[in-house]
Amino acid sequence: MSSSQQSNEFIVISQQEHCIVKQNKENNQYGLFANTSFKAGSTIVAFNASKIVDTPNYLTVQVSEHKHIHLFPEYLQYVNHCCEPNVLFNTTTMQLECISDIEAGEELRFFYPATEWRISQQFICNCGKPSCVGLIQGAADTPTEVLNKYKLTDFIKSMAARYKAFLLML
Ligand SMILES: [Zn+2]
Repeated sequence: MSSSQQSNEFIVISQQEHCIVKQNKENNQYGLFANTSFKAGSTIVAFNASKIVDTPNYLTVQVSEHKHIHLFPEYLQYVNHCCEPNVLFNTTTMQLECISDIEAGEELRFFYPATEWRISQQFICNCGKPSCVGLIQGAADTPTEVLNKYKLTDFIKSMAARYKAFLLML
């Protein structure tokens, strides 16, 4: 239906209900792409925990201070980071939420510090967007003026508020 240019740089790995898992031939990285359009504020898919752990790793999403979940459906692990994200793992509603309009064929990307207070491995982002933050760390180590530009989970918002109050006491 969509006329979006099927790039030769990607191999289709699996078709999901509203998304496609693709692999980039150049860097072998997997990504999740919309196969239909979505309006900002709509839900792409509900998610749940396939496993709950108490320390974060690169696959987990933080739902509370000591609770990190492995995502179900599993293909959601292929949602990559971007400094101009189009989705949020909303850990209050447990829905993958669109934070901007998304066109069919677009890659779904989230902002790491929007869900993670501290991340297991910081990394340098290569998203190439004008607002690229560069060094990606958890929300705890991300400047407030950067965090304020993003839609964050309720958990991260409450942690940031607590942290700020704590800093004011010092
Ligand atoms: Zn970036």
